[in-house]
Amino acid sequence: MIEDTFRHKGLRKKLVEEVRRKGIRDEKVLDALNKVARHLFMETGFINFAYKDQAFPIGAGQTISQPYTVAFQTELLEVEEHDKILEIGTGSGYQAAILLELGARVYTIERQKKLYLKTRKLLTDLGYKPHFFYGDGFEGLPAYSPFDKILITAATSEIPEKLLQQLKIGGRIVLPLGGSFTQVMTTVIKKGEDEFKKSSHGFFVFVPLLKGTANDNN
Ligand code: SAH
Repeated sequence: MIEDTFRHKGLRKKLVEEVRRKGIRDEKVLDALNKVARHLFMETGFINFAYKDQAFPIGAGQTISQPYTVAFQTELLEVEEHDKILEIGTGSGYQAAILLELGARVYTIERQKKLYLKTRKLLTDLGYKPHFFYGDGFEGLPAYSPFDKILITAATSEIPEKLLQQLKIGGRIVLPLGGSFTQVMTTVIKKGEDEFKKSSHGFFVFVPLLKGTANDNN
C-alpha cells in the first residue's frame, strides 16, 4: 500500500532535524531527505522503524543504509541538477530516490537479481525513474560513461579502476573504502586523465561490494 500519512510526514521532519543535528548542513540534501517516504522502502514489519536514524534489513541479506549515512554520502557528492550519476548498489532504491529528488539523472546497478526486480518495480510505482541495470558494479557502465559523479554504496578495499576511467575530468567518486568491519568514507576527485585527489571523511560500516552477479539470495 503506497500511503504517506500525516504521521509519516511528521516523523520524517523529526528525522531530518536529527540528521541536521548530527552535522549535515546542505539544505538541499535535507530537503530531499524530507521528501522521500522512507517507510515505503522497507519490509512491512519494519515500518515503525522507518524514521529512526538506523540501517535496516531489506531481505536478501542486504540493508537500507542509515539516513545519516545516505545524507553524508550525498553531501560529499555535491550533486548539481542534471548531474549524470552512477550508483553502485541499488539495494532498496532509497539512495537513488534521494539523488533523483536533487534533480540528478541516475544510473543504478544491482548485482542481486531479486532485489533488482523488486526495487525496479517499487521505484517505478513511486514515480522515480532512474535507469536500472542488473550487473556487476565493478564493471560500471562503459556504454553510458562518462559520469559526473559515481556513488558506491557498499564497502570495497580498493577503488575500482574501471569506475575511475568512467568518471569525467572534474568529476568525483564517493565510496566507503576498507575491509569488512569498518571503512573510511573517501572522496576521489578526478583532476586529469591520471591525476586523482583523495580525501577521507571518517569511519562507517557498509555491507561488502561483491564481485559478479547473483541470481539467488547470495
Ligand atoms: N543504495 C542502497 C544501499 C544498499 S546496500 C540503498 O539505498 O538502499 C548495498 C547494495 O549493493 C546491496 O543491495 C548489494 O546487493 C549491492 N551490491 C554489492 N556488490 C555489488 C556489485 N558488485 N554491483 C552492484 N551491486 C552490488
